[in-house]
Amino acid sequence: MESVNLINASTKSAQAPCVADAYLAAPPHHSELNAYKSALEELAIVAMCDRSGRITYVNDQFCRISGYDRSELIGAKHSLINSGHHPREFFKDMWRTIAHGRRWRGEICNRAKNGEHYWVDTTIAPMFSLAGHIQGYVSIRFDITRSKAVEAALTAEAERRGGAEALLRDIVEAIPDGVATFDRAGKLVLYNRAFRDFYAIAAPAISEGASNDSIIEYAIEHGQFATGVAASDWIRTWRSGRQNPKLQVERPLLQQLSDGRWLQMQDRYSMAGRLVTISTDVTSIKDTEQLIKRQAEQDPLTGLANRTVFQHRLTQALDRHRRKATMGAILLIDLDKFKDVNDTLGHDAGDALLVEIGRRLSRSLRRGDVVARLGGDEFAVIMPNVASRDDLIRLIGRIQADLCQPVRLARKIVNISCSIGIAIFPRDGRSPKVLLKNADIALYEAKARGRNAHCFFQPALRAHLKRRDSLTDALRTAIAGKGLDIALQPQVNLADGRHVGFEVLARWRNGGQSIAPNEFIPVGEECGLMVPLGNLILEKAASRLRDLRTKGLAPGFMAINVSAAQLKADGFVDHLTLLLARNGLDPCDVEIEVTEKVLFDKATSRITQTLFDLHALGFKIALDDFGTGYASLAHLKRFPVSRLKIDQSFVGDMTLNPRDSAIAIAIIHLAHNLDMDVVAEGIETREQLDVLKQYGCDFGQGYLLGRPLVGDDVDFYLSNISK
Ligand code: C2E
Ligand code: MG
Ligand code: MG
Repeated sequence: MESVNLINASTKSAQAPCVADAYLAAPPHHSELNAYKSALEELAIVAMCDRSGRITYVNDQFCRISGYDRSELIGAKHSLINSGHHPREFFKDMWRTIAHGRRWRGEICNRAKNGEHYWVDTTIAPMFSLAGHIQGYVSIRFDITRSKAVEAALTAEAERRGGAEALLRDIVEAIPDGVATFDRAGKLVLYNRAFRDFYAIAAPAISEGASNDSIIEYAIEHGQFATGVAASDWIRTWRSGRQNPKLQVERPLLQQLSDGRWLQMQDRYSMAGRLVTISTDVTSIKDTEQLIKRQAEQDPLTGLANRTVFQHRLTQALDRHRRKATMGAILLIDLDKFKDVNDTLGHDAGDALLVEIGRRLSRSLRRGDVVARLGGDEFAVIMPNVASRDDLIRLIGRIQADLCQPVRLARKIVNISCSIGIAIFPRDGRSPKVLLKNADIALYEAKARGRNAHCFFQPALRAHLKRRDSLTDALRTAIAGKGLDIALQPQVNLADGRHVGFEVLARWRNGGQSIAPNEFIPVGEECGLMVPLGNLILEKAASRLRDLRTKGLAPGFMAINVSAAQLKADGFVDHLTLLLARNGLDPCDVEIEVTEKVLFDKATSRITQTLFDLHALGFKIALDDFGTGYASLAHLKRFPVSRLKIDQSFVGDMTLNPRDSAIAIAIIHLAHNLDMDVVAEGIETREQLDVLKQYGCDFGQGYLLGRPLVGDDVDFYLSNISK
């Protein structure tokens, strides 16, 4: 029985011989025949039938397995025990074989009397007459029911297993992540296409049975992974994890591939001890993350560090300083007249200039220095290590020289300059906040000193700034409470010495102390207070002029200093004309004094328009402090100026310094050639007066002719001169 192959249920006419085969193979001798017979009776199910298939003989085993009595079987057709399990073809083939005199062997499923099926390994051989004709058939069967059941169970199990594995493979293939499983010995047992695709360079090393180590080593050797710090990081982690798997588990590793993609690799050990590696493509997450990081850390225009990063790096630099007693510095750099570039050449040119400045700053710095754009045209530099103050001055000189190279913008060559405020650490501060504040104070001072300057922070500057801040608050309060006053300084016709008018000068007493206009006017300009301040002066001047006239005095005109902010303000002309009308005054009663500086303001077109509107209404416009700024003849022609005021600095020295008198004389000629009047300011001596008269200066103003007057002094002065 053991020799029966249980796996193949098909016919087995070509199988190895068994007992039945041996019996049927050759006619044995009589005694042998008996031995075979009794052996067969014991072991086999034997039956004989005639040529038509009618049963002629059955042994006990046959009766037992079929459940039929011998009497029921003899004479019955063999088909009595047919189970219906086999197709017709099966028996047709069998009959064809035996009817041709050949032996047939196969596994047949029969049905017992009680309906149960049983399997028999069957050999059927034809029985021949002496004449050689087929007389009938003898069948020898062995019960294989149990082994068939085992076989069926095994087949079912195999099918189930095969199905499950196929299903598993299907699922694994469908996963977009790379999946690879390694057995306890580290050999690859299962992987999907995504895994092989991710590690395309290492693909030759990826095959079932390959070891995890060999795949990764191959991948590293053949450049599968990006090089750099991040790459060596994960390789180190992976190597240490290989020595101690516990370290690696639960902690995802981030790998960057040489093609730039990012994979997140997560290892897990299954219950059975297999290592399951899942690699997920996180490139888009990483890209977004890096974009967000860049956006959070970088100035989008120049690509330099932004304020947040700057402060962070400054904190780091200061921390390091606490450990090492070295010197460092921060620089705040502000472009001079950046707004002019924006206003005259457009914002694109302004942007291009900022980018260029960023580039120049980056290239003139040393390794370890940090350059950032804090906003607008303000840049900042951290120099964590400076050997000495001299060294720092040399570095700053180099930066300033580089930054001040002309730039080509919007097809124009533009000269640029910058102001730099410097704070040294730890001397000028140990915290980013204090250092930045002090560098800002130094920058403010550098700007105040004029263009293209640098200034080191000094504690005295802070005091200066403090005063400025307190002045700002007090000035704001004073304006709101109309607490400012005016002084009137006479102007005289030099030819006949007659009074022609007054210049209106702002006066402010703060806490019992007089503050000079040269101090509070710049404060007002910086803090945006010039419109309310100017309006207050205008109101006071107009009502004063009306009062003086009401008193029967002849004050002449009022020359009023007007700032750029006022000329730019909406409705200035309307406001002024309305004010005059309310006080019964005309435009010819007022002269507008503007300094050259005003004509260079960024909003030139706005200011020019206002000046033309004023001129059209009959206001006279005087150009104040002429000769100190940059006004050219072209400017004078472009604006509706009717009077030039020679700055007092030329008048003051004209009798001592021939060059100053030459300038004063030139201004007088120039004005006259352009059909303008000339007023000389700051006449203090008779010599000055005589020289000015000699050269034909029209009007004069100065202590010699009359100090700025306040209150009743004006009335007194006017009363006296009319006598
Ligand atoms: P400014 O318009 O050139 O005014 C003339 C300045 O020269 C006045 O100074 C005046 O007091 C001074 N001064 C007049 N004669 C002499 C002299 O003989 N010798 C000397 N050393 N100085 C003389 P102040 O009042 O200190 O004003 C300074 C500047 O402040 C003015 O220069 C003007 O630019 C500005 N300012 C004054 N009031 C106003 C105002 O209401 N609005 C505006 N926007 N600026 C004003
Ligand atoms: Mg003036
Ligand atoms: Mg002046």
